[in-house]
Amino acid sequence: MIDQHGRNIEYIRISITDRCNFRCMYCMPDTGISKVNHEEILTYEEILRLCRILAGMGITKVKITGGEPLVRGNVPYLIKKIRKIPGIENVTLTTNGMLLKENIRELAEAGLDAVNISIDALDEKIFEKIAGRKGLAQVLEGLEEALKYPNIRVKVNCVLLEGMNESQWMKLAELAKDRLIDVRFIEMMPIGYGKQYCGETEAHVRQMLEKTYGRITDVQGKFGNGPSTYVKLEGFQGKIGFISAMSHKFCAECNRIRLTSGGWLKPCLQYAAGADLKRILRENGSDQELEAVMRKTIYEKPVSHHFEQRNQIGFENKKMSEIGG
Ligand code: SAM
Ligand code: SF4
Repeated sequence: MIDQHGRNIEYIRISITDRCNFRCMYCMPDTGISKVNHEEILTYEEILRLCRILAGMGITKVKITGGEPLVRGNVPYLIKKIRKIPGIENVTLTTNGMLLKENIRELAEAGLDAVNISIDALDEKIFEKIAGRKGLAQVLEGLEEALKYPNIRVKVNCVLLEGMNESQWMKLAELAKDRLIDVRFIEMMPIGYGKQYCGETEAHVRQMLEKTYGRITDVQGKFGNGPSTYVKLEGFQGKIGFISAMSHKFCAECNRIRLTSGGWLKPCLQYAAGADLKRILRENGSDQELEAVMRKTIYEKPVSHHFEQRNQIGFENKKMSEIGG
C-alpha cells in the first residue's frame, strides 16, 4: 500500500517476544528491563490474522524478530503458516543465533527464506561483555549449520560501539571472505538503551576497509528487504553491507512498518505513534475494523525520523527488545 508520501509499504517486522537469552548492553541489559506480561503478548493466531489482512493490503515480506524469537516455542509453525498466506513472498528471521543450530532444520522445512544472525564480536571476552552471556561458540555453530541450507540466505549483523568492540570489525568482515555470507554493520540508533552508547559510523568502517583491503567497490542493486548498501572486497565471496540510519537517512525509500510483541503497529521506529491492534483483536473487532486502522496508520507514516532531536515530544520510549530492531 502507498503511504501519504508515495512510498510503497510492503514489509513488516514482527516482534514475537520481548524475552531474550542474551543481555546485550545496548538493548536489554541485566538491570532495568521490565517484561511485558505473557498475556499481553500477541498469540500466534492473532499474529496470523493480522498477517492475512496485511497481505491483502500489499505486504509481501515478513521478518520475525524479538527479543530473541527462538526463545518462544514453535517458531517454525508460525513461519510455515505465514509463508503459506497468499501474497506473502518472503519470510525471514533475525536471531542472536544461540538456539539456531537445533532449530534450523525445522525452520528450513517451514520455508524460511533468510536468516540474519547478530554477532557483535568474535573475541569471546568482548562477546560476553556485550551480550552479557557466554555463547559465542554456540552462535558460530548455529551460523555454520545455517550455511548447510542453500535455500536460506545467511547474513551477519553487527553493531560497532566505540570503546567496546570496534577492534572486531575486521574479524567480522572476514566472515564474508570464504563463505557466501553478507556481513552488515549497523549504526547504533538512539532507541532504548542505545541512547547511552556511541556507535561507529559507516564512513569510519569504509575508511578502515579501504586502508586494509585496498579499493572497495560499491555494489548497485537491492539485496534483501531493507535499506542496506553494499560493497565488494577483492577476493571476498560475500559482500559487506551498511545499515546507516544515522549518517545516511534512508526514510525516502522506507518500505517498512513494525508490530511490537504487545500488538502495537508502529509506522516509524523513532516515533511512539501507532495503533493498538491488540485492543481491537481482543475486543472482537472485525477484519474490516483492523484493516481500516492499519490503513490509516500506514498512510500517516511520518516522512522521516529525527533521531537527532532526542527530547522531542513523541519520541519512542519502548525498548528495542520489545520493538524488534
Ligand atoms: N535477538 C535478535 C537479534 O539480536 O538479532 C533479534 C532482535 S534484536 C533487537 C535485532 C537487531 O537490533 C540486532 O541486530 C541488534 O544488534 C539491533 N539493535 C538493538 N538495539 C539497537 C540500537 N539501539 N541501534 C541499532 N541496532 C540495534
Ligand atoms: Fe537480545 Fe537481540 Fe537485544 Fe541482544 S540485541 S539483547 S540478542 S534482543
